[in-house]
Amino acid sequence: MVIIPMFIVSCLSLYISVNSIKERIERRNTAIRNTINHSVTHFEEALLTIDELLTDGSLGVVKNNHDLRILEKANHTFEKLQILNLEGVVEYSSGEDENFGLDLSNFEFVKNAIEANGFFWSNVISSFKDQSPEIMIAKRFGSEILVGSINIEDFYSLVQGTVKNTGSKVAILDTDGNIVINILKGLDIQKDTLNFDYVYKSENQEMKKRSFLKGRDKFDVIQSYGKIDKTGWDIVIIEEGNRGFILAWDFYRHLVLVISLFTLGMIYLSHLAISRFTGDMKKLNTISEKVAAGKLPKMLKYELLEAEELAYRFLLMGEVLLKREESIKEETNFLENLLEAIPNPVFYKDKNHVYLGGNKAFADYLGIEKHEIAGKTVYDVAPEDMADIYMEADDKILEAGETQVYQGQVIDSDNKTKDVKFYKSVFKNSEGEKLGIIGVMLDVTNLKEAIRTSEKKEKLLESLLYTIPLPTFYQDKDGRYINCNRAFEDIVGKKKNDILGKCHLEVWENNFTDYCNVKDKELMKEQKLQKFEYNIIDQSGEKRILVFDKTVFHNENKEVGGIIGVMSDITEIRKLQDELKKISVKDSLTGIYNRRGFEEMSNRNLKDSLRNKNNVSIIMVDIDRFKLYNDTYGHQAGDECLKEIAEKLEESCKRSMDIVARYGGEEFIILLPDTDLDGARMVAKKINKNIQDMKIEHVKSEHGEIVTVSIGVASDIPKDEKSLEKLIGLADKMLYLAKESGRNRVEG
Ligand code: GH3
Ligand code: MG
Ligand code: MG
Repeated sequence: MVIIPMFIVSCLSLYISVNSIKERIERRNTAIRNTINHSVTHFEEALLTIDELLTDGSLGVVKNNHDLRILEKANHTFEKLQILNLEGVVEYSSGEDENFGLDLSNFEFVKNAIEANGFFWSNVISSFKDQSPEIMIAKRFGSEILVGSINIEDFYSLVQGTVKNTGSKVAILDTDGNIVINILKGLDIQKDTLNFDYVYKSENQEMKKRSFLKGRDKFDVIQSYGKIDKTGWDIVIIEEGNRGFILAWDFYRHLVLVISLFTLGMIYLSHLAISRFTGDMKKLNTISEKVAAGKLPKMLKYELLEAEELAYRFLLMGEVLLKREESIKEETNFLENLLEAIPNPVFYKDKNHVYLGGNKAFADYLGIEKHEIAGKTVYDVAPEDMADIYMEADDKILEAGETQVYQGQVIDSDNKTKDVKFYKSVFKNSEGEKLGIIGVMLDVTNLKEAIRTSEKKEKLLESLLYTIPLPTFYQDKDGRYINCNRAFEDIVGKKKNDILGKCHLEVWENNFTDYCNVKDKELMKEQKLQKFEYNIIDQSGEKRILVFDKTVFHNENKEVGGIIGVMSDITEIRKLQDELKKISVKDSLTGIYNRRGFEEMSNRNLKDSLRNKNNVSIIMVDIDRFKLYNDTYGHQAGDECLKEIAEKLEESCKRSMDIVARYGGEEFIILLPDTDLDGARMVAKKINKNIQDMKIEHVKSEHGEIVTVSIGVASDIPKDEKSLEKLIGLADKMLYLAKESGRNRVEG
């Protein structure tokens, strides 16, 4: 186990140290790249200075070969300076070869300088003079291009001066793949010095991944790869071969990880193997202990392997048995719990009628503890005569081997006799052998009582129903009559037996049934009190008016169970009502409408008139000097006179819509619908004349000793409910005027 942390610690320390070396190398390489870049800048700045000297004029320098040569010598940077025109043709040169007129426009760096602003560097070029390698730098200044040639040795010494202290091997390659400098090997410019093919493929920075470099020095490793931004050249920094492992770290890291995991896996497997082995040892130990304790059969001599196998089998079987015992225990527990959960007394006994056990409800029933059940017989728990019966029942069931249900009585722990129902069944073993009886007791004492009570209630209801004088019935939700009373029997003319279970059509046998069905449906839907009136022709052929009051009733599930209905025969009441109504609106003496009748009739008329905007006229008639008439001829004669006048008034108003009424005492009122004032005057005058023509003697009358009347007339188109009242008031005023003006006349 110590191996694992040790392994992890060593891996970690290796990881940290390699990383720190890598970091240092990285820093160094960055410094190298920066230095080389800086060296290149040195040449560019020198070219700028030369141009300034050429164009400034302050030093008297002129653009010619001679002055260029002076500048070149003074500057020490370039081996040669040339001025090109924009065609790339050499115009001036500091070189002694004096290659004027030479066209350099084929060189990429010259092309670039013509087209764009900036410094452009050539690749390695063989000098025209002695074929020695050189590099050139060009920049356009106005309409000329200044080109400086750098001896490769000068470039080398500049770069080497800064790079050599780092101890690195550095190679610089131009864009054609020529070695510009190889710090390692000086100026050995051979194209195959490095694997150029490889270098060029590495432009996409894949170099680090393929770190082994083929070439002259096979063990050197390219550690870093970069570019000189200004020239576009490649820098290749080569690490010594013996540091290769660091650079290969990226690769080895994964290898180490795989190895670590593999090692861990191996450690785990060996741990498992050891555990298995120690387990086996323990088993063998158990066997030997058992053998020593004499638990294995002694008489057989086993080979060690056989003994081992046997012991192993024993162990397996032991496990199986333990498990089985556990599951049996669980099952038994479950059954016991189930038994306890049953609220009814449950018991079981063997075939010799001895109780084996029971649940708590049974123990409570007997008034003993649960553990006391076992061993008792039915004679211990029931009176002897009952026990005999039970015993016999048990024998029967054991013989038949079936389920048995019977009722009986037992005496419970409180010495109360209880009605019980026994459900008994025979239980058998897996071979089908009968082992005993299991039984459940259901206490039906309360149930029986409930049945008795409900029977009583039902009888009460029945007699109540029969005593109700109104025809009463109830139906189920399908419309079949469930019950009815005698009054109902009478009204349908059938006996109860012919009614119950029947539907409307079978009971009523007339059109009424359709209406009943519609109403029933409506009631079941709305479940509100329903009241309606219906005229039927009864058994004797007489028309009867029935009022139905119906409602729904609900069953124990709170669902609509059916309909209860009560019928009231209002035929007689209705007749009386009509009679009363007639009486109330007519005057008993004259038989014409009284004041109430007039008001009722005139209000109806007013509505029509308001709607149709018709004229309505009112005529008020009062008998002249009637008090004197009474005084002269007696009250009875007065009454007769009133009757005759009333008759005459009715006679005088021919239209059926005219309303003639006794308004009070000897005063009459007439409403003439759809009649204007002129029309009404005409009628009034006719009345006045007709009454005079009756020539009823009235000696005290100042008008020809006969009964006369004074009449007030008013007419208008009613505008509202109050219009009629106003019109009557106006007619009354007119009547008063007629009286004032001497009686026996019409005013209005
Ligand atoms: P006027 O010309 O001013 O109407 O004089 P009048 O006597 O008719 O008027 P008054 O109001 O003074 O008397 C009305 C009388 O009518 C009083 C009453 O004796 C009589 N009368 C009212 N109702 C009845 C009735 O039902 N039967 C009889 N016989 N007389 C009645
Ligand atoms: Mg009068
Ligand atoms: Mg009067």
